[in-house]
Amino acid sequence: MDLRGRRAVVTGSTSGIGLGIAEALAMNGCDIVLNGFGTNAGIEAVRTQMEQSHGVKVIYLGADISQPEECRLLIERALACLGGVDILVNNAGIQQVAPIEHFPKERWDAILATNLSAVFHLTAAVLPKMRESGYGRILNIASVHGLVGSRDKSAYIAAKHGVVGLTKVVALETAGRGITCNAICPGWVLTPLVEAQLNERMDREGLDRHMAEKSLLNEKQPSGQFTRAGEIGSLAVFLCSDAAANITGAALPIDGGWTAQ
Ligand code: NAD
Repeated sequence: MDLRGRRAVVTGSTSGIGLGIAEALAMNGCDIVLNGFGTNAGIEAVRTQMEQSHGVKVIYLGADISQPEECRLLIERALACLGGVDILVNNAGIQQVAPIEHFPKERWDAILATNLSAVFHLTAAVLPKMRESGYGRILNIASVHGLVGSRDKSAYIAAKHGVVGLTKVVALETAGRGITCNAICPGWVLTPLVEAQLNERMDREGLDRHMAEKSLLNEKQPSGQFTRAGEIGSLAVFLCSDAAANITGAALPIDGGWTAQ
């Protein structure tokens, strides 16, 4: 896919799925804005490696996207640094696992702000320029948990269902203008977000690492395999291509059969 000249902002791209998507977009010619938390040295190493490997411009813009003002500033600075934003990947997200009656209120607020409200604020900030240029791709990294429920994840699942709904509204408001908005709905992907849940399972069930991975996958993901961040990156690249110009408002699972059950 030739995405040369396209400019992409990928939130939460210092780790996991966001990093895989940024890498795949860079490999296909996009200039990239990296965003997310991490050490200065770690972020700079990722930035220079990506720039050198793919011959594109890669900049890092720090922003805590749980803060609406920082969302607006992130887009403003990305526009100033790259001259435009053609692709917005709303990827940054956090998780907390606890039954609803013990769910910490401040974690509910943080998850809703990061996983859902940021998608609204960033999309609203980026759309005027996309409308002007007549091309735009908005990819929302939702989850299988935007489509189905699981116990003990009230805030995450409420937020991800919200993201799938918001995706449909943005698709309708931009239809026929060269802009598409889709949600990608991964099942289990082995990233730091899932590591925490694996560690918890190892402690709770007295399992070694291998058995904990098997138990996690067997419970929900019929393929028995984790989806890889690079595979989500490839799907993102396809959705940004001209071939995907008429795919909009969709929620696309990449889940080894999880939501087919
Ligand atoms: P991760 O923990 O590896 O990465 C999360 C990224 O988001 C990091 O770069 C982190 O710094 C950034 N981030 C967190 N809060 C932020 C904030 N307030 N402002 C800016 N950046 C922030 O997690 P991941 O598994 O790669 O998750 C990425 C997305 O994919 C999330 O939206 C998650 O819900 C979704 N997802 C993950 C899985 C999975 O199995 N890992 C499955 C389905 C969906």
